[in-house]
Amino acid sequence: MNIYVLMKRTFDTEEKITIAGGKINEDGAEFIINPYDEYAIEEAIQVRDANGGEVTVISVGNEESEKQLRTALAMGADKAVLINIEDDLENGDQFTTAKIIAEYLKDKKADLILGGNVAIDGGSGQVGPRVAELLNIPYVTTITKLEINGTSVTVTRDVEGDSEVIETSLPLLVTAQQGLNEPRYPSLPGIMKAKKKPLDELELDDLDLEEDDVEAKTKTIEIYLPPKKEAGKVLAGDLKDQVKELVHLLHTEAKVI
Ligand SMILES: Cc1cc2nc3c(=O)[nH]c(=O)nc-3n(C[C@H](O)[C@H](O)[C@H](O)COP(=O)(O)OP(=O)(O)OC[C@H]3O[C@@H](n4cnc5c(N)ncnc54)[C@H](O)[C@@H]3O)c2cc1C
Repeated sequence: MNIYVLMKRTFDTEEKITIAGGKINEDGAEFIINPYDEYAIEEAIQVRDANGGEVTVISVGNEESEKQLRTALAMGADKAVLINIEDDLENGDQFTTAKIIAEYLKDKKADLILGGNVAIDGGSGQVGPRVAELLNIPYVTTITKLEINGTSVTVTRDVEGDSEVIETSLPLLVTAQQGLNEPRYPSLPGIMKAKKKPLDELELDDLDLEEDDVEAKTKTIEIYLPPKKEAGKVLAGDLKDQVKELVHLLHTEAKVI
């Protein structure tokens, strides 16, 4: 089975986000594999082990993304592809990323493509479905279970805590939700082996894409941090007076009633 995983390099969830010059400041920040993409990588490895085939992990980014791609290889993926857009593009959005990925995949005869449900930084949840649309294949988002039988696929997806079971077929794109599996840690032999596994680097030119073909469809006007949380107010005194005061504050300060 020909399996592909879409992997984004994202901020470590422990990082404190700061803004400098209207952009998120990346200086000194730690980066990781987007956590939802770890579920996608783990599932891809399990599907390959059960059905045979090969797992290729793709990332659109810059050479810094090599580190996360090597980690995916150390987990057990077979190949990695870095589409390095650093020298070609200054701006991009979900359309840009999806178009580049779809262009790479269009002649690869992928049976199964797995991505994360959402990137923990950009957080739009758009890239997976957009890639499937561009490739004209079905997709199921936020999956928590994947069963493959020949070309038939039964998928369980998370719908706000409830479950929905969907029958579909390969080729298929799915996006992983927490609970799909327990991603493995790379083992020491895995890390050693990963150093020798193929990691190809491509640029837009290699995909016959011009800058205009992937021009962003959206423009970021402003990036800002959420307002600082104010300290809470503790009301004192008689319960009756407290209720009166609360209603007064909700009306005059919070302006919600
Ligand atoms: C040239 C360029 C410049 C950019 N400049 C900025 C910028 O200045 N500021 C900014 O905030 N963002 C920038 N971006 C990032 C962009 O806006 C989005 O973050 C990115 O397209 C993914 O969208 P998302 O984060 O909403 O991911 P989602 O759609 O939420 O991601 C869902 C899933 O899609 C897959 N996926 C997402 N991104 C990638 C990827 N890069 N490679 C492989 N798989 C992926 C993963 O499986 C992920 O779990 C730039 C992108 C490009 C291409």
